Amino acid sequence: MLTVENTLKWLALFNQAIQTNQAQLSALDTPIGDGDHGHNMARGMTAVTEVLADKAPTDVPAILKLTAMNLITKVGGAAGPLYGTAFLEMAKKSAETLEIAPLLSAGLAGVEKRGHATVGEKTLIDVWQPVIAQLEQGPLTAEAVTTAVEATAALRATKGRASYLGERSIGHVDPGAASSGYLFTTMLEAGI
Ligand code: ADP
Ligand code: MG
Ligand code: MG
Repeated sequence: MLTVENTLKWLALFNQAIQTNQAQLSALDTPIGDGDHGHNMARGMTAVTEVLADKAPTDVPAILKLTAMNLITKVGGAAGPLYGTAFLEMAKKSAETLEIAPLLSAGLAGVEKRGHATVGEKTLIDVWQPVIAQLEQGPLTAEAVTTAVEATAALRATKGRASYLGERSIGHVDPGAASSGYLFTTMLEAGI
């Protein structure tokens, strides 16, 4: 269940993970993309961190909405609008519930709609979907998150830049899946 405290802690830990692993995320984007995913996410999360400190929102919907707007407007590339849409749909849903599984489910539905993508296309959806399925059954583990991230290596990309490579996209972990891995391991670290 999200609270103001654990949501802010989650976003602070996610920002740290993105900044620390920026080079690794861009390196994953190099063989199957344009090598900017870490840079894109780092710029977005820097903006999110600054605006949260500046505006000091006092409720969960406001935190999620500020996060969404900054990811949508400050990140170039596919991932910003996709993560931004996820947080925007979570913000809307948080007026109704603060339980994490239905919130993430609403976020995932937004990503699928915006990206015209579904499970199995080698995108961040391939981490969100199994994470949500696990949360609906019982507690999520960091191992389950890592397994989902690594499983994207075996997939052939049919959406995004990696899809231009066809069969040659196989064997590489999807960069958006890896950044989503950090989103969910930091969620666990924040006690959510
Ligand atoms: P860009 O490809 O524009 O440079 P990024 O490198 O920041 O953007 O993000 C790439 C990631 O975005 C991919 O690894 C994938 O996870 C995700 N992605 C790309 N296109 C889609 C899509 N249509 N639906 C869902 N996720 C997508
Ligand atoms: Mg890229
Ligand atoms: Mg790019």
